[in-house]
Amino acid sequence: MNLDEMRSLLTENGYKNTTQRNGMFLALEKHAGDHLSPEQLHSVLAEEGNHVGIATIYRTLQIFESLGIVHKLDFDDRAYRYEIVNQDEAHMHHHLICERCEKVTELHVDLLDKLEAIVEKDYGFTITDHAVKIFGICKACGEKQEETLE
Ligand SMILES: [Zn+2]
Ligand SMILES: [Zn+2]
Ligand SMILES: [Zn+2]
Repeated sequence: MNLDEMRSLLTENGYKNTTQRNGMFLALEKHAGDHLSPEQLHSVLAEEGNHVGIATIYRTLQIFESLGIVHKLDFDDRAYRYEIVNQDEAHMHHHLICERCEKVTELHVDLLDKLEAIVEKDYGFTITDHAVKIFGICKACGEKQEETLE
């Protein structure tokens, strides 16, 4: 999804292309991989001198999600996070979530073919997408722990 596609989606669905909406999209694009929460997006925009009210951010993210512009992600921490939809992915990439530093790493290999085949064949369930969250300790945190144990 790029800015032009987002703009036409908004127009087609009767939403205005406001500076704030464009600014939010560009900030999400610039911080791809960061999986920003509404509050983080608010700070990122404020740092750029772009003051968008938090209520507007929530409302706009809701619109973006309903139009398939962003994915709303729940990493079981304090807030929902958002990332721009990548239409080139048949299924969403997986996320590795560190329980210590809360860093989120993307895993861009699906590898669920076997499971998906069983689900479709044995359960007659047609898979449209999946969201895999893997919890654990990231490499940096693991190494830090080893140091303290020495
Ligand atoms: Zn898959
Ligand atoms: Zn970590
Ligand atoms: Zn992601």
